Amino acid sequence: MILELKKSKLSEKLKEYINKVEEETGLPALIKSAQDVGLQGMNAVFKLDPKYIRIEIIEEKYCDSKGEVDQEGIECVIAHEVIHALLAYKKKYYQFYILPKCNKLEDNSVRLICSMIEDLVVNKIMYENNFQLLPKRYINGLKDDIEDLHKGKDCYENYNKYPPIHKNRFVVYRYILAWGVLRYFIPGETDKKTICKFLKIFQKSYPKQYEEAEQIIKIILEKDIFTREGQCKTIKKCLALWNLTNLVEIRTS
Ligand SMILES: [Zn+2]
Repeated sequence: MILELKKSKLSEKLKEYINKVEEETGLPALIKSAQDVGLQGMNAVFKLDPKYIRIEIIEEKYCDSKGEVDQEGIECVIAHEVIHALLAYKKKYYQFYILPKCNKLEDNSVRLICSMIEDLVVNKIMYENNFQLLPKRYINGLKDDIEDLHKGKDCYENYNKYPPIHKNRFVVYRYILAWGVLRYFIPGETDKKTICKFLKIFQKSYPKQYEEAEQIIKIILEKDIFTREGQCKTIKKCLALWNLTNLVEIRTS
């Protein structure tokens, strides 16, 4: 493993897990810091690379104002991205290669759909391997969102700099993420309450995006997303829903 992060150290448990994935995929992990990994709100990315399990992270996003690293948060995101690699290289889940003709926003839309669906599988494997599924930073983020929405404030106003369609898609993504945790995993009582509260107030605050999210949920529930075929079909249907079908090439890595 090549760890090119400036501040973060990894726990023995995570190192062992990465070793296991390196063995199973036959590829060394390369974990490095980056300045930008796509849309705002994305802090890390797994990139298909023939030589490495390549993971890029905006490390500052996991540091507080004093420069202290949120160890739980960074471990969680690294485990998450490593599992994407496991799905791609070992389990041969289909990869959706974004065609060069795509602009940055189309690229982000495709990645949002792929993440939205594949993350459900990633979370399942995280859960089975006893990794923290709901880091404090995620739950605290939801609590902030709930507070904003109670005040009638748009908690996604940071995304107003993007065209409305792309902001909407990100908002839908946030809903699916929270819904997925509740649907497929068993969060502790307190976290469960927070997620339920978020989903409820979201439905009231963003009725249009909620409706779009419901269409995606319907597609997710039609197939077994925990199989590679089921997942591929689900992603394809969701891409069609957002008119993104002709922007990808589907193959296994
Ligand atoms: Zn992911």
